[in-house]
Amino acid sequence: MHLPKIKLKEYPLKYILAKTSLLLLCVFVNLFTSDLISQIGKVNNHMFFIGSYGISVISAQGVLTGIRSLSCVLMVFISYTAGIIPAIVLTLLNIIHSVYPIILLRSLSSLPGAISSVVSLVSVLIIYSFYKKAVIKSYTDYISGLNNRRSYVKEAGIRIAAGKSFCLACVEIEGFKSINDMFGILAGDYILKHTAEKFKLIAGKNATVFKITGAMFAIIFDDLNSNSSPEEKTRQIIKPEVIGIPSEDWESKTIEKTCVISYAAGYTYVQPPYSKKKSASSILKDTETALLVAHNYPENKICAYNETLENEEIKQKEAELLVLESLENDLFYLVYQPQYTTAEKKLRGFETLIRCKKPDGSIVSPALFIPAAEKTSLIMRIDDYVLRKAMTECKALVDGTEDNLVISINVSAKNISSDNFASKIKEIIKETEFPPEHLEIEITEYSFAESGKTIANINALKELGIQIALDDFGTGYTSIAQLMKLPVNLLKIDKSLIDDIENSQVMRDMVDSVIYMGHIMNCEVISEGVENENQLKLLLEHKCDFIQGFVWGKPQSYDEVKRLCGLK
Ligand code: C2E
Ligand code: MG
Ligand code: MG
Repeated sequence: MHLPKIKLKEYPLKYILAKTSLLLLCVFVNLFTSDLISQIGKVNNHMFFIGSYGISVISAQGVLTGIRSLSCVLMVFISYTAGIIPAIVLTLLNIIHSVYPIILLRSLSSLPGAISSVVSLVSVLIIYSFYKKAVIKSYTDYISGLNNRRSYVKEAGIRIAAGKSFCLACVEIEGFKSINDMFGILAGDYILKHTAEKFKLIAGKNATVFKITGAMFAIIFDDLNSNSSPEEKTRQIIKPEVIGIPSEDWESKTIEKTCVISYAAGYTYVQPPYSKKKSASSILKDTETALLVAHNYPENKICAYNETLENEEIKQKEAELLVLESLENDLFYLVYQPQYTTAEKKLRGFETLIRCKKPDGSIVSPALFIPAAEKTSLIMRIDDYVLRKAMTECKALVDGTEDNLVISINVSAKNISSDNFASKIKEIIKETEFPPEHLEIEITEYSFAESGKTIANINALKELGIQIALDDFGTGYTSIAQLMKLPVNLLKIDKSLIDDIENSQVMRDMVDSVIYMGHIMNCEVISEGVENENQLKLLLEHKCDFIQGFVWGKPQSYDEVKRLCGLK
């Protein structure tokens, strides 16, 4: 831990003038009282008079010595760095002045003055050391022992004032609250200390590590020309690691549990010329924005700050707020888009699509809030709402028609890869009494990248008779070998592949291959986003089983759907 070294020119002029005047006043009082003490000592009488008031010489010298000591103490209070020097020099001079007659004249008359000056020196030193400790404490994070946020503000301020370039990285331990909940606060503290040491080691000599808040650290990198750049060092820092946590008996240091720690980082390069708006706090805020974005990355959680991030972050927060408000105030509702067989235009079923109706009556598309919700756990709440609502609404529909209708529901990758997804579906089916053989869950290829749990969940759903559709097919990067293994019943060819089939032979060949491949996989194939008769004709030629698109039906309300199915 070191204290920020602030140069005199970095303080405001008013502040310097005020402190200097007070220090000079104390020096003056000290010198003046010393002079009075020796003047009074020369008075022959034991008493002297101020007006009609008599006072003994000894008492007057005692009072003045007290004032002189107080002036030294005040110097340290005014500025513990600048005040300590005159305080020590003046007290030493007073000691010499008192000891001098004792040694040379062998007179003990100045002994009390000498003792009081020594006491004064000791007091000044004690106060100085207490003061220094308090200042160090105010710049230190008491858990990790690192410099704290206050210290960061000073340190970064010094560099900005001196016009120096530096890189600031903010690194945060992911999910630290759950680590604390799971392993206890002491283990949390242990991890913070361990992390602090690790960061210091990797960051190296030309860097200063700070702990800003809970589990967030900041690192100022000064040497931007070294072999290993700040970005590279930050990448090393954020590599996930397994930390051994000692048993509750911390002394024994026996490792009892292990915990996987992962990190996210944002960083900003700052260089002169610095505008008036650039401050230590504004740079920290920018870097925190980059950190927030990095947290949302699925992997390689490191992000450099740039101004566009700010807009992305604002949009993300607005979308999150909209989802929360919609869930709380029941602003979500469902629309259903029909799916038909290509050859006979026979109704196959409906895809459930969410909408949000704001209090001003405007309708918000899911494209505006689903991607933002997917970056947080809010998507789980949306999916739960849609599953429950769709099954509740459509029970009457599937019960009341002979057509063996399929109700297709989009489920996010986060949800289908979660531990309790299959049991949650069972619960909703039981609650709504929806027949599972009429249910289809739409997932994307990304679901398979999330975790191994996805396949287990899908198999559990299939056992219940639920069908599985692979949405947005053709937009992901899954290899053909992997695709062949996916336990799905229906491939949904993405609109982007259909858009150009009228004009491009390559796209026609592509769609033809995809349909062919789907059939080899024992899947049925549906094309979504079909908008005109030409596309329809081509898809029929390529033996696409089903069609979903504006050409035969837009997403519509539940009442319209009921009418379409001939129900009241
Ligand atoms: P998706 O699941 O691929 O849904 C198909 C999207 O294409 C829907 O947009 C639909 O309205 C649109 N579409 C269908 N036919 C046509 C057409 O002929 N022309 C055009 N231009 N568009 C067509 P929407 O409803 O805006 O949904 C967008 C995406 O939002 C969906 O893509 C899905 O990924 C997500 N989403 C929608 N509802 C839900 C939901 O309830 N839960 C979850 N997790 N995601 C949903
Ligand atoms: Mg879909
Ligand atoms: Mg789709």
